[in-house]
Amino acid sequence: MIVGAGFAGAVLAERLTHGSDKRVLVVDKRNHIGGNAYDYFDESKILVHKYGPHIFHTNSSQVFNYLSQFTKWRFYEHRTVAKIGDQLLPVPINLTTVNKLYNFNFDSKALREYFDSVKEDRVEIKNSEDAVVSQVGWDLYEKIFRGYTKKQWGLDPSQLDKSVVRRIPTRTNTDDRYFTDKYQFMPLKGYTYLINNMLKHPNIDILLNTTFDDIKDTIRYKSIIYTGRVDEYFKFCYGELPYRSLKFKRETINTDKFQPTGIVTYPNDHPYTRITEYKHLTGQKVDNKTSISYEFPCWEGEPFYPVPNAKNARLYSKYRTLLKKLKNVHFVGRLATYRYYNMDQVVAQALTLYKNIKTR
Ligand code: FAD
Repeated sequence: MIVGAGFAGAVLAERLTHGSDKRVLVVDKRNHIGGNAYDYFDESKILVHKYGPHIFHTNSSQVFNYLSQFTKWRFYEHRTVAKIGDQLLPVPINLTTVNKLYNFNFDSKALREYFDSVKEDRVEIKNSEDAVVSQVGWDLYEKIFRGYTKKQWGLDPSQLDKSVVRRIPTRTNTDDRYFTDKYQFMPLKGYTYLINNMLKHPNIDILLNTTFDDIKDTIRYKSIIYTGRVDEYFKFCYGELPYRSLKFKRETINTDKFQPTGIVTYPNDHPYTRITEYKHLTGQKVDNKTSISYEFPCWEGEPFYPVPNAKNARLYSKYRTLLKKLKNVHFVGRLATYRYYNMDQVVAQALTLYKNIKTR
C-alpha cells in the first residue's frame, strides 16, 4: 500500500513492481496523481503547475538517469528578478544586482571588498537574519530578504532557522542563474506525464479521491509506504506540525509575454511574494496568450513548507521516535519526514528506501 501519488510514492511503486510480481496499490486523497508537482492544461490550453512553479534541477546523475527513463527533457536554466523600487534586479544577488541597485561600477574583487565592508560579523549564525547580515550587510538584507521572508513565513528572519536563507547563494560574478546544478531541465511534456509513465504497470493500481483512513481497514496489505503527513498518521497525538501554505490567483492574459523571466519576486511592496509566467518554464508556444499565477503566503490550506525552527524539530523528533517502533511502515518524502525537499532529493530518498527494503 502506497499512500500518496507524488514523486516519493511513484518512485517506490515503479521500483517495487519493476521486474517483480509484487502488486502495489497507490492511494491519493486528491483527484490526480503527481502530488505537488502536478501540472495540467488550463482553459487556454497552457500547461500550468497547480501547486506553484516546479523547476527541476539536480547534481545527481543517478536521479537524472533514473527519471530519464520516463521522460524526454527540455533544457531550462531558471532565472529570476526581484522588483526593488523601480528596477528589476537579478536574484540571487550578484555583481549586476549590486551595481544596478547602488549605481556602482564594481568588478568581482571590488564587490568582495564591498561585502567585507558592510557585512556584520556574528560570533554564531543562529537564524536567517544572522545568515544574511553576516554575508551582505543590513541594506541588502532589508531591501531583498527581510520583507520577502516576512511575507513568505509570517515571521521575521530573526525567528527562522538559518537554513531558510542558506538555500539562496550570493555571487560576486555576473552569473544570474538561480541554480548552478549539473542537470537543469524540465520534463518535456510535464510532470504529470512523467509520473504517469512511472505508474504505468499492470501491477500498479491507483485509487484517487481516497484517504488512507478510508481504506486502511478494508484492504489487505503486507506493508505501507507512507508519504503523507507524519503527524496525521499518528492522529496528531503530540500536536500539529505547522506548515506554511500558499493561495494562488491565476490569470490568463492576451499577450505573448507578461514578464522577462519565469518568476518575478516582490520582496517589499505587494501582498504577493512572486508572479510566475508558466510559458517561460515549459517553453510552450502559444500566440497572444499567457497564463500567470500570483502567490499569497498564508497559514491555512495545503501543507507546503515545513517551518524549520528548534521547537518544530523537537516535535518532529517525538513523532520520529514513534515511527521507528513500527514494522512494515516506511515513511518517505516531504510530508512524512517534515523536511523541505526538492523533487530530486525526494527521488533520491525514495531510491535509497527501495534499496534498503530490497536488501532486507
Ligand atoms: P507530495 O508531492 O506532497 O505528494 C504527497 C501526496 O500524498 C499528495 O498527493 C497528497 O495528496 C497525498 N496524501 C497525503 N496524505 C494522504 C492521505 N492520508 N491519504 C491519501 N493521500 C495522501 N521542488 C523542486 O525540485 N523544484 C521546485 O521548483 C519546487 N518548487 C516548489 C514550489 C512549491 C510551492 C512547493 C510547495 C514545493 C516545491 N518543490 C519544488 C518541492 C516539491 O513539490 C517536492 O519535493 C515534491 O513534490 C515532494 O514529493 P512527495 O511525494 O514527497 O510529496
